[in-house]
Amino acid sequence: TKFVELPISQKTIKALKESKYLKLTDIQKASIPLALKGKDILGAAQTGSGKTLAFLIPILERLYCEQWTRMDGIGALVITPTRELAYQIFETLKRVGKYQDFSAGLIIGGKDLKFERKRMDQCNIIICTPGRLLQHMDENPLFDCVSMKILVLDEADRCLDMGFKETMNGIIANLPPERQTLLFSATQTKSVQDLARLSLKDPSYVSI
Ligand code: AMP
Repeated sequence: TKFVELPISQKTIKALKESKYLKLTDIQKASIPLALKGKDILGAAQTGSGKTLAFLIPILERLYCEQWTRMDGIGALVITPTRELAYQIFETLKRVGKYQDFSAGLIIGGKDLKFERKRMDQCNIIICTPGRLLQHMDENPLFDCVSMKILVLDEADRCLDMGFKETMNGIIANLPPERQTLLFSATQTKSVQDLARLSLKDPSYVSI
């Protein structure tokens, strides 16, 4: 399958082409069409499989493609275990979302909380590490997620291995229940299944 064959906007197709992304990887083939329809996904996929685009394309298309008017507030939240992964996702998002109208921010620490917080209030897509997001939520329980439509739990097994189970559960409990959730994990341990049960609604299981 090629990206041009997907029901996605010309803006996204053009940006993908410019990044030399032409054919979908297996995880992209299996998950993008379902995610575009709004399905929750439990994806078994390793780093290097192309899972970043598997969640970024549905975010861009469902929230910021041409038939939608520009939304205010946080539309999508991506939680990933490390700063390095957060940076990579951010860079990819900037490239493939080049022709769409949205703002994206990193919440990964390294700047003071107040500065990050201000950024956060102006962002439509937030890419964060779990510990830092929790810090913000502790500091300001009114952290506004009512407009949030899509939650991505990236490398969920690693987040859990790093001891963020309670943090993730706490974050999920604070998000609107009618959202779409995409969970990706290299391994399917019991704790990943617990997290899946807590965060996903009638998910499609996608394994490559
Ligand atoms: P990821 O697993 O999302 O970290 O992606 C791994 C690498 O594959 C990254 O360098 C991506 O730029 C690249 N990649 C992702 N999707 C595609 C694609 N459809 N065609 C070619 N390269 C891709």
